Amino acid sequence: MLKLYNTLSREKEDFKPAAKTVTMYSCGPTVYNYAHIGNLRTYVFMDLLRRALKFDGYKIKGVMNITDVGHLLSDSDEGEDKMVKASRELKKSPAELAAAYAEAFFCDTAALNIGRPEIIAKATDHIKDMLDYVTELQKKGYAYETDDGIYFDIGAFPDYGKLSRANLDEQIAGARVEVNSQKRHPADFALWKKAEKNHIMQWDSPWGKGYPGWHIECSAMSRKYLGSAFDIHTGGVDHIPIHHENEIAQSEAREGKKTVNYWLHGEFMLVDGGKMSKSLGNTYTLSDLAARGYPPLAFRYFCLNTHYRKKLNFTFEGLAAAKTALERLCIQLTKHKNASANGADAKSGSVAGANASGADATSAGTSGTGADESKIETYQKEFADAINDDLNVPLALGVLWTMLKEPPCRKIYDIALKFDAVFGLDLHKSAELAAALTDEPQQEIPAAVAALAERRLAARAAKNWSLSDSLRDELKSNGWLILDAKDGTYTLKKE
Ligand code: AMP
Ligand code: ZN
Repeated sequence: MLKLYNTLSREKEDFKPAAKTVTMYSCGPTVYNYAHIGNLRTYVFMDLLRRALKFDGYKIKGVMNITDVGHLLSDSDEGEDKMVKASRELKKSPAELAAAYAEAFFCDTAALNIGRPEIIAKATDHIKDMLDYVTELQKKGYAYETDDGIYFDIGAFPDYGKLSRANLDEQIAGARVEVNSQKRHPADFALWKKAEKNHIMQWDSPWGKGYPGWHIECSAMSRKYLGSAFDIHTGGVDHIPIHHENEIAQSEAREGKKTVNYWLHGEFMLVDGGKMSKSLGNTYTLSDLAARGYPPLAFRYFCLNTHYRKKLNFTFEGLAAAKTALERLCIQLTKHKNASANGADAKSGSVAGANASGADATSAGTSGTGADESKIETYQKEFADAINDDLNVPLALGVLWTMLKEPPCRKIYDIALKFDAVFGLDLHKSAELAAALTDEPQQEIPAAVAALAERRLAARAAKNWSLSDSLRDELKSNGWLILDAKDGTYTLKKE
């Protein structure tokens, strides 16, 4: 049974979707710049969740928004719209910027093997849905008009603050003097802003020209595609106190019921132990990492190594270690890939279970596959348990590493690929990477030659020395030398 940590209850809960297809909404990027690696960590987390659900046999209807209007410099209605500011600085229209940065975002996510949610919804394509939403909230008595916009009245929603468990009175006491004196409560937030004449993004509305608030887009688009209630909502932890609190207020006020069953949040990525943000200028993009020789999947591995609810401190040393670990993983895996069904390594000739005393891979404890079946079953169970325990991917990676330490066996390779359906590390390409990493060019061993070597191994195990010698001669006449190691394994070398 999959358990997920629900921010709302602060507990790991059994995951019980309302129907067979899991409905899931993920807050998407604000496309005023390239995504930084912190943003990307949050989407790796979203992807791991999607993969875990699929691993457990669920279908998913996932929605992700693209924010191209309404996200102000501060999450709480202050400062300029991020898109407008970038548009002025880069001398490009918001639409041009949105198209370019959304494309860059999907290039990055594709390179990181982050699956694309089924529905991608751009905020500016849903202005009418947002206007309808605000109108509905106003009709129900949850919104009021001021000189500069329409605001949500948190005083009308007693549950306000239930996600962040914030003490509103304390917040208010510590808050700076309110700029907008017409707001009934300092935490009331804009659903719709009236636009100045020269504002470059504005639409007609019942309240004159203007543009939507950031929070309303997620409530409007999730409702449009997923209905009045859905299973899972994801985002980064920074969204808990304002954006998601406000989404809950809007959606529950409109529907009069709980609208999201599981709220999941990914912890932040830090850089060199400190906060990373575009405004601090200490952000890295995936291209920055590539320019320094780190492929996207090394970064993905780096993310996988830390649980999504723990802070992850980015350093280049850490990334280098992740790159090396992924390379070693591929090399280990290739040994299993090249092992034949009975455990012999068809490529290098090393043999599972074989030893100097002549015991072979099919002896007691194995079942003709070269690996201990019960051990393999245990690894599979441990893997599933780790994933189902609130996506404990670091533990699941540990299970993979332990499994790879078993003697070479093709079945282990096959199981590792099943695990990779969750990891998303392209382990099916591991042999290519391993080959590229090995200085010595890999020699292709013809199947007939590998078969002769296997027969010879069996002859040795049976202490049939004359057959063993004649098979050695046959290999030699085919142009292959067989070198026996003390531990009973062998290597084939072209003469
Ligand atoms: P934005 O493009 O600013 O709307 O953010 C996109 C996503 O990245 C949101 O889900 C944020 O919560 C998340 N995010 C922003 N900064 C970080 C960070 N340093 N670490 C992890 N996630 C982040
Ligand atoms: Zn959102």
